[in-house]
Amino acid sequence: MAENEDKAKNAKRKKPVIDPKLADYRGVWVFVEQEEGVVHPVSWELLGRARILATSLGVEVAAVVFGANDETVDKITGQAISYGAEKVYQVVDPALCDYRSDPYTDCLVNLVKKYKPEILLLGATSLSRDLASSVATILETGLTADCTELTIDVENRSLEATRPTFGGSLLCTILTLNYRPQMATARPGVLPIPLPEPDRKGVIIREPMRIDEEKLITKVLGFIPDPCKVAERLSTAEIVVGGGRGIKQPGHFSLLRELADLLGGEVGGTRPVVQAGWLDTERQIGQTGKTIRPKVYIAVGISGAIQHRVGIEKAGMIVAINNDPNAPIFDYADLGIVGDFLEIIPALIRVLKKKRAAKNGLSNTERNIGIEIK
Ligand SMILES: Cc1cc2nc3c(=O)[nH]c(=O)nc-3n(C[C@H](O)[C@H](O)[C@H](O)COP(=O)(O)OP(=O)(O)OC[C@H]3O[C@@H](n4cnc5c(N)ncnc54)[C@H](O)[C@@H]3O)c2cc1C
Repeated sequence: MAENEDKAKNAKRKKPVIDPKLADYRGVWVFVEQEEGVVHPVSWELLGRARILATSLGVEVAAVVFGANDETVDKITGQAISYGAEKVYQVVDPALCDYRSDPYTDCLVNLVKKYKPEILLLGATSLSRDLASSVATILETGLTADCTELTIDVENRSLEATRPTFGGSLLCTILTLNYRPQMATARPGVLPIPLPEPDRKGVIIREPMRIDEEKLITKVLGFIPDPCKVAERLSTAEIVVGGGRGIKQPGHFSLLRELADLLGGEVGGTRPVVQAGWLDTERQIGQTGKTIRPKVYIAVGISGAIQHRVGIEKAGMIVAINNDPNAPIFDYADLGIVGDFLEIIPALIRVLKKKRAAKNGLSNTERNIGIEIK
């Protein structure tokens, strides 16, 4: 009965009517974020996803690259093509050396107005969040921020942008039906980076823009790189050691740090340890923290609640250390060690210190972890 009612409701539900004017908009664009010539890896993640979305829609993938000089912009353009861009829109101007809202927004808005992409994707980083929100405001279009999944409803040509909501207790999927481009920012680390194909060819469009430095209200006095960049390091680390409430006291994080250092990895943790002030907020892993995809995740004293699991399930291998054999994390860990972390971690550290030097023929990760990683 309930099933029939649902069917009847679905049949009655009106199909969204898309404004025919929007048909002029075609193509999936990715804004390639760079600082000092170094591209944020989320841009490559987005190009990988853009290719999937564009294939479903039967359109092309384009990258947008801004920079101060030809050398930097051409280098990044080549990389963008190797990661899947069929076309690259370049803007080169000394005013685009370091990120500033005004010139970056103007250039991106002008490009969008001229070439009309139907989807525009950016990373959910500090820089691109700032840019995305000002571009969306000027273009008066919809922006879904901090997405963890991006798919397509082919029938409506709608971007299905999924993100956590209500403090992370629910996931919601947002569609921008009546405005173009459909804009979204995606969290770093949630989408896989495609394999680059260095032999790929693409079309380059160099777009002249008139930027008057005198009229820009912000001036860059200098560039001071953030030595910590914790969030970035955590998202890209090959090995992450996570600590939970089971490690009992903040001082025990030094053991986890020692293990992580020996493995060339990073330290993260669960929400309770962050809330207790044992660990910085940027190191929280999970639904309301970071999503990571290391080759190996070592969960120490972590029960494995669903909100933590969503942040680690893309790890290549999950190793769980817990003294409760019934802890939920053992249901999905690849390797489980039942026991007291205060015995296991120091033993691991001792073994690693001994074995590390001997493993010369293997890759860094393999050498560090002392096992073969497929
Ligand atoms: C809306 C919402 C959002 C949330 N977002 C997040 C999030 O982003 N990230 C997150 O992590 N959580 C999040 N949570 C919290 C989540 O539900 C869990 O409460 C949390 O992940 C549990 O943290 P824990 O594993 O550190 O602690 P516990 O659940 O208390 O687990 C501690 C574990 O340590 C083990 N242990 C104890 N002593 C030892 C020992 N000596 N040696 C080895 N093991 C030992 C215990 O057996 C136990 O399994 C969220 C919750 C809500 C409601």
